[in-house]
Amino acid sequence: MTDLLIGGRWTGAIDERTREIRCPADGSLVAVVDEGGGKDAAEAVAAARQAFDQGPWPRTPAGPRGDLLLRVADLVARDKDALARAESLDTGKRLAESRLDVDDAVACFRYYGRLVRTETGRVVDTGTAHAVSRVVHEPVGVCALITPWNCPLPQTSWKVAPALAAGNTFVLKPSELTPSTAIALMRLLVEAGLPDGVANLVLGPGPEAGAPLTDNPDVDMVSFTGGLRTGRRVMAAAAGTVKRTSLELSGKNPNVVFADADFDTAVDHALTAVFRHSGQVCSAGARLMVEDSVHDAFVEAVVHRARGIRLGGPFDERAQTGPLISAAHRARVEAYVAAGLAEGARLRCGGTCPDDPALADGYYFLPTVLDRCHSGMSVLADESFGPVLTVERFASEDEAVRLANDTVYGLAGAVWSGDEERARRVASRLRLGTVWINDYHPCLPQAEWGGFKQSGTGRELGPGGLAEYRETKHIWRNTRPRPRGWFA
Ligand code: NAD
Repeated sequence: MTDLLIGGRWTGAIDERTREIRCPADGSLVAVVDEGGGKDAAEAVAAARQAFDQGPWPRTPAGPRGDLLLRVADLVARDKDALARAESLDTGKRLAESRLDVDDAVACFRYYGRLVRTETGRVVDTGTAHAVSRVVHEPVGVCALITPWNCPLPQTSWKVAPALAAGNTFVLKPSELTPSTAIALMRLLVEAGLPDGVANLVLGPGPEAGAPLTDNPDVDMVSFTGGLRTGRRVMAAAAGTVKRTSLELSGKNPNVVFADADFDTAVDHALTAVFRHSGQVCSAGARLMVEDSVHDAFVEAVVHRARGIRLGGPFDERAQTGPLISAAHRARVEAYVAAGLAEGARLRCGGTCPDDPALADGYYFLPTVLDRCHSGMSVLADESFGPVLTVERFASEDEAVRLANDTVYGLAGAVWSGDEERARRVASRLRLGTVWINDYHPCLPQAEWGGFKQSGTGRELGPGGLAEYRETKHIWRNTRPRPRGWFA
């Protein structure tokens, strides 16, 4: 077994543990992978440290670093079919969606491969003829990159590409549930010619293989994507050595529909917003808010269409969405729905597992709509990360904004209105890192992604995503040094 990459060497786990990866759609065995722990994490950090302090990569100019990223983009595109298949087997996601995720990864590597060449330092006006002042960018150092299971390849690429573009070395710790495309991506980095020790891969559960990365003094930065509770732990662990942290956490994303929106289009997108990948998307529009005058008809239309959604495995071409990631996660979603019902929400559809025997071996849960939800309910405060849509109503623009912002999260959301001015006004008042107007879900490598409030710190993608992985240094050069005479 050789799934861990440490210092340029593929190796098994020190404790020789392994883990079975099973497809959540039917429980079939996908792979048996090495399962690392604290000792493997420590070795990986030591390798990344050595490659940073003594290896060529941090001192490689931006041009060749960009070239390598472009080669990686080509290799990921070359292996699109295999990567998409592996992603679907690990996550249970529809193959068509996994193919889009591979395209996303390709675009990310291409974007940073090109961007890094154009990003130079700047000369600062010193106000004197006898000094030259420049502000330059340097890599942060050794980065711990920790990723979740819902969109493994894009989430990994959003970290690996800018970390490498900036000249860092890293240890990647993907979710223990979905490691296959992380392993494949590391193989492609090696194939592209990345020097030994720059990219290191440790597999294993968060507390055992991830936590030791977050308080290791040799790690300079932690970039984490995952749940809010884990994010708090990561931030606290990193505080001991004042590491830079970049956190992409949970969301409770409002999808705000005004009466003057295009009704059918808004209904259609309300479904994609939340039921795509069975709601296991951090930006899922799980909180539908509808203006009073169209509320009943709108919810009726959403419920009608939600009842018709076809569930199925990743390679079932008729399936429109797939299973949840695990039995434990499905149990959490069930408990979330039960809590909402106990607090007075009304179940409009779903709320249970499907009774189709063909789906009995997977962790499926029916698309669920809960209406009559209002502030104070747990279903509005908490993320379900499942196929559950809560519905609220509002009477005015002010009320819509107030309710949408009434959450500790601030990741993403949408406004639907035929009145361009109003849509812009509302978008500017929403405390969210991404707002879509008359759309839901588009995401570009050129545009920053991340959360306000407790949805995170820092940004991924765009120039801001590169800045996360860079230190800024001011270099002042006195061109005519003379004694200052201050203490003469
Ligand atoms: P999670 O927080 O359980 O795990 C995320 C990663 O952290 C995994 O690799 C896990 O092994 C690791 N981990 C767990 N405990 C750790 C610890 N103590 N120290 C270090 N690492 C640890 O999240 P998940 O269940 O894998 O993913 C779902 C969550 O991710 C959802 O809440 C979702 O909203 C969030 N998410 C956010 C974004 C975003 O861009 N903001 C994107 C995708 C997912």
